[in-house]
Order: sequence, then C-alpha cells, then structure tokens
Amino acid sequence: MSCQVLSLVIPTQLQRVAHRVAHGALHRLFHTRSCLFVVLHIALQAAVFGEYTWEVFGYCWELQFPLLLLLLPYLLLAGNMGCFLLCSRANPGIITKSNHASLVKVYAYDGVMFQRGTVCPTCTMEKPARSKHCSVCGTCVHRFDHHCVWLNNCVGASNAAWFLLYLLSLTATATALAAITLSFLSHVVQLSNLLHSTYLDAQGQEHPVEIPFLVQHLFLTFPRIVFMLGFVILLTLVLGGYSAFSLYLAFTNQTTNEWCKSRRFGVSHHVSSQPPDRQVVYKNIYSKGIWRNLKEIFRPPTALERKKKT
Ligand SMILES: [Zn+2]
Ligand SMILES: [Zn+2]
Repeated sequence: MSCQVLSLVIPTQLQRVAHRVAHGALHRLFHTRSCLFVVLHIALQAAVFGEYTWEVFGYCWELQFPLLLLLLPYLLLAGNMGCFLLCSRANPGIITKSNHASLVKVYAYDGVMFQRGTVCPTCTMEKPARSKHCSVCGTCVHRFDHHCVWLNNCVGASNAAWFLLYLLSLTATATALAAITLSFLSHVVQLSNLLHSTYLDAQGQEHPVEIPFLVQHLFLTFPRIVFMLGFVILLTLVLGGYSAFSLYLAFTNQTTNEWCKSRRFGVSHHVSSQPPDRQVVYKNIYSKGIWRNLKEIFRPPTALERKKKT
C-alpha cells in the first residue's frame, strides 16, 4: 500500500518540480532580458558566413563569378550588423517622469484603443496614446511596437527605423546568399552535363537524371553547401514575409501592437457610452498617407510639431 502511495506521490511531485523548472526557464527566456537569442543570432550568422567564405566563395571565384557579386553578402552583412547594433543599443523611447509631459502630447487618444486617463500600474503614470508597458524591460515605451528577443530590446518610436532597416538588410543578405549559392550549383550541373546523363539503379536499369536524383547527388557532393542553401532559402521566405508585413505596417502607420489589438475590435467590443448593439469599429487615426507615414518612422514627431499643425 505504502509503495503504491509513494509511486503516486513521487511522480506528481517530480512532475510539479519539472513543470516549475520548465516554466521558470521559459519565463526567464521570454520574459526577462537575456542575451541568449542575441548569441544564437550571431552564431547562426557566423555559421552561414563561415560556410560561404570557406567553400562557396572559393568555388565561385574559380568559376569566374564577378568579384563584386561575391562581396555583396559581406557588404549587406556589414550594413545589417550596423543596424543591429544601433537598434539593440538604442533607447526605444522609454517613458520617464521627465519626458512624460512632452510625450503625452505627441499622439491624440483615439478613444477606442487608447483611452485618456489609463494609468500604467507599474510606472504609475498616465499612458500616452500608442504607448505600452513592456513586461520584459519593465518600462513603458513610446509608440511601442514589440519586444524583440533577437535584439534583446524593445522596438519603439526611437528605433523603429533601425529595426526596419535591420529587417530589410537581413532579408537582402539571406536572398543574396541563396541566389549566389543556387547560381553556383546550377553552374556545376551545367558544367557536368548532369541533366543530360543517365544513371543505373540497384537493379542495373538505366534512367535519365531527374530532379530528386540531382538534389541527392548535389547533397552527397556538397553536403554543407546544400544544407546551408536549404537554411538560407527558408530564411529568405520567412524574413521576406515578415519584411512585407513590417512595410505594410510602416505604410499604414500602425505598430505591431496596434495591429494585434485592432483584430479584436469590430467583433464584440462595446463602449458603455454607446448602445450595446452598436459595435465599435476601430479606425486608424494616425495614418497620414504612405509617404508621410514612412517619414514618421524615420523622423518621429515631437509634441512641438503636433502643436504647430493644430
Ligand atoms: Zn509602464
Ligand atoms: Zn521590452
């Protein structure tokens, strides 16, 4: 009987401990500032560029690829690292007691997503319109976009431009690496006349070379290069999609936070001043046309400018 009790009790306790440890680790990973993702980010870049420099560059050089084309990924990497440093080390727009009075005047309250008089319980200050408290950084951030674990920093009014440039340059780097590597492999296929050859299967029968055989052959000949190519193609697709989304947000003057929140409006959200059957439809009051929206990212408005215009 006691054995049965023990076998029931210990696993439950162990489960609880394991759950607590896993929960704690996940909390530390995503809810406290940590350099882990920054280190992973740099390690992945080093691995990809190590492989590019070690093998692809040399082979392409032998195949007489233009030098400028081969140097392009390094130029893009340099630009990307610059944006990375500027974005991750910048003050995203932390709201303090001293700048609160001026930041509160920059954007108007839309009355739906941002209500006048909402106080941040942690910072004990009225939240300026478009701001949000970041639980990771423990501060309220002006024109809060999102907290980026890869940069270990918030993206807000003051570093949104660097974030956009960082994302675009990273996408361009991945695209350039994928294009050069694909071009190298297609050169190899053309030079060896592989597509017009035949191969013998296990039964000794002759077959013309098809795409699956070609990929297998290339993987066996250049395993690291094909592996890297698969990774950078995946990266190009994911980053390309994210860049397109970020550009859409920039052109329409929305932050990621506002875009996520706006999904919730127009469904079943009611404001007490309106009849309960009338739905609140969120309208973006901050958009001023594509070019002015884009300009706002690169030159965040100040309270003074808004005063001048009104
Ligand atoms: Zn706050
Ligand atoms: Zn943050």
